[in-house]
Amino acid sequence: MPWFKGNIHSHTTNSDGDSSPQHVAAWYKDNGYDFVVLSDHNHLSILDDAEKNNDKWPLLIPGEEVTVRKIGIDAAALHIGGIALSEVIMPGSYESNTDGINDIVSKINKQDGLASINHPNYQWWVSSDDIKHSTEKIWAFEIFNGHMHANNYGSLNSMSTE
Ligand SMILES: [Zn+2]
Repeated sequence: MPWFKGNIHSHTTNSDGDSSPQHVAAWYKDNGYDFVVLSDHNHLSILDDAEKNNDKWPLLIPGEEVTVRKIGIDAAALHIGGIALSEVIMPGSYESNTDGINDIVSKINKQDGLASINHPNYQWWVSSDDIKHSTEKIWAFEIFNGHMHANNYGSLNSMSTE
């Protein structure tokens, strides 16, 4: 098997990205990517005729970034990537991060999708214990995210994502 270059976490104007889905897909094609997931928040960004347009877009895999909140706390949320989904998964509010991870990841797994914990250190939303205590099969988590609040390298009191 050859290696394939892809991105499983990107945003478009269908959520908080600044470019259209068509433009984002074309950028990845122009920059040598084999596949991309337009993982807009709580939204499946699918382009019509994606298979017919493989000369201008890479392979487009349907997916989304699902928002998980703690009950009563609107400002903080964690994000779970759902890759290769057939139906959108709605955001939810839970007693704990682990409850939220278990519920959303199980919904992703039921669709035979792949679940990824995105930017776990973003504003310190997710701890390693939240992930360790999850009973569902998590496929991956992000080690690096380019957002300025991703805290990839940890702090004196918190582990790095690596
Ligand atoms: Zn996110």
